[in-house]
Amino acid sequence: SDHRLEYPRSPDDMNWEKLFPKFYDEESNSMTSSVEIADIGCGYGGLLTKLAPEFPEKLILGMEIRVQVTQYVEDRIIALRNKHENDEVNFQNISVLRGNAMKFLPNFFRKGQLSKMFFCFPDPHFKQRKHKARIITNTLLSEYAYVLREGGVVYTITDVEDLHKWMVKHLEEHPLFERLDEEWEKQDKCANIMYNSTEEGQKVTRNKGSKWIACYRRLPTPEDC
Ligand code: SAM
Repeated sequence: SDHRLEYPRSPDDMNWEKLFPKFYDEESNSMTSSVEIADIGCGYGGLLTKLAPEFPEKLILGMEIRVQVTQYVEDRIIALRNKHENDEVNFQNISVLRGNAMKFLPNFFRKGQLSKMFFCFPDPHFKQRKHKARIITNTLLSEYAYVLREGGVVYTITDVEDLHKWMVKHLEEHPLFERLDEEWEKQDKCANIMYNSTEEGQKVTRNKGSKWIACYRRLPTPEDC
């Protein structure tokens, strides 16, 4: 349950320096970079660790609702930072936050702050009456569109075909998203990394399951909106 989770009143109230201390500038009392990539429901953090070396100057945040899982990822990142303190890839650009991504995302991120959002193997909520608990819905897509900049990308991957169809249907119906084709998926490094770097994705591979990917570009907001 998430009833005791705390949310910042606005993105300005976020203490990002706690999560990314090496990106905090004492002199100007401000962050030198802001979160641009979000892994929603990051689980054990495999995607974060693989994205870290690819975007050394960008801040990447995992959001996870489960307490113990968040703690595990936090410890994992601290261990990586300690181990690679003097290395070029030092994992200072990844962090994790406990939170319910279905609530108050605009309290964490400013309008157009994000360039990529990942939804990797989200909980399927199989039963019909549970579908409204799915992480991709019309209402939530409007929130994701708000925090994503024009040209930003929503990445989805799942091993549940019914959920894949659901996500595609809702993204197709949303006026601010446009599907990226298979050619694009093939040449995009994040789509490739996403395919096998999350713990859930690796489990699906071990069990010889199928994986469905759908990536959508955030379109410009029409003038009269
Ligand atoms: N993305 C990871 C992977 O591929 O290995 C984890 C996949 S796991 C099946 C789904 C994760 O989403 C779980 O860790 C769950 O706790 C988290 N989750 C579910 N609902 C969430 C929410 N509303 N906000 C944040 N995380 C959530």
